[in-house]
Amino acid sequence: MTDCIFCKIANKEIPSYLIKESENFMSFLDINPHAPGHSLVIPKVHFSNLKEFEDELSSEFIKIIKDTMIDISKALNTDSFTLGINEGKLAGQAVLHLHFHIIPRFFSDKGGSIHSVVINKPNESIEEIYKKIKNESQN
Ligand code: AMP
Ligand code: ZN
Repeated sequence: MTDCIFCKIANKEIPSYLIKESENFMSFLDINPHAPGHSLVIPKVHFSNLKEFEDELSSEFIKIIKDTMIDISKALNTDSFTLGINEGKLAGQAVLHLHFHIIPRFFSDKGGSIHSVVINKPNESIEEIYKKIKNESQN
């Protein structure tokens, strides 16, 4: 996709601190790291988000995430990571090309767990919310 920064990285039109590359994915250091070794994994083909992502590529996606973590683990001497996707504008997605964050965690790094990302306790009961979800569920 023209004008997509991650498509340009995938096409090697702009440089990146490449860590791993597979047939359909690559991982590289985030240019504005929130921790040492903060990295991103992207598909080479443009998908705006996980919802649009092709199911057939899932295992290759997980494999490169895992292999990148192993490299970082050894290099920076940690076994702890916060992993995830900012899916959609309200979640903070700034680059509209699917990307998975790998954020290494260190002793006393002042970060929280995923539980601290949002505190928006529901007004409805869990049963009500569950019913809504199951009504929409395909299988
Ligand atoms: P998000 O908020 O999930 O969309 O995060 C986008 C991430 O992409 C941010 O952490 C940026 O620092 C990172 N980023 C943007 N441009 C580049 C680039 N050229 N190389 C590496 N990382 C980048
Ligand atoms: Zn793109």
